Amino acid sequence: MTGHVPRHAVVIASGGLDSTAAAYLLASQGSSVSLLSFDYGQRHRKELESAARIAALLDAAHEVVDLTSVGRLLGGSALTDTGVAVPDGHYSDESMRITVVPNRNAIMLEVAAGVAVASKADAVAFGAHAGDHFIYPDCRPEFFEKLAASIRAGNEGFLAEGFQLVAPFLNVTKADIVETAAELQVPFELTWSCYKGGEVHCGTCGTCTERREAFALAEVPDPTAYAAGVAR
Ligand SMILES: [Zn+2]
Repeated sequence: MTGHVPRHAVVIASGGLDSTAAAYLLASQGSSVSLLSFDYGQRHRKELESAARIAALLDAAHEVVDLTSVGRLLGGSALTDTGVAVPDGHYSDESMRITVVPNRNAIMLEVAAGVAVASKADAVAFGAHAGDHFIYPDCRPEFFEKLAASIRAGNEGFLAEGFQLVAPFLNVTKADIVETAAELQVPFELTWSCYKGGEVHCGTCGTCTERREAFALAEVPDPTAYAAGVAR
């Protein structure tokens, strides 16, 4: 999965820290990057504005794929269903299962693969990282390997040569990502993580908890404005 540096990568860009760092990393290695974001009706749609600003800074093309009609059918997740509250606290808590959006990563990666074929890009990049594995089965290495094989099989003869699925942070922690991102001068203040999608980061939901911990562990100053203190 970590082969050569891609010539052109379609980066799935949520506007968050991980995917932004992935885009900056690829760009720093000399890849041409295009950013692809998804509107699946997430309550933190605000992240799409972050992705647009980051794309502009990278001088990269940016497209937002409208998956709202699909998102409507994926109810029951706190991220898409306004009837389900976003839980506070740590990612490894069982309660965080409620933030899983059914088959989300496969849907986004498959659309991105199609875009890569159409635009002759030789990579699709994704910012998933080790800390996500506990709760999200579609963030695990096994899933990416199988999906890459499936994309190659399903697009044989149409994919750019050497096509790869790039997930540079799959085996590192979010603190490692913050450290790398700091070196790459990622504009942290423009990235959006919070699942609640308020005016500022809530500071207590799963992603906020993880975000502030990662900065603390990496000993990198956290420029994020949080509405509340540490949850626990
Ligand atoms: Zn939050």
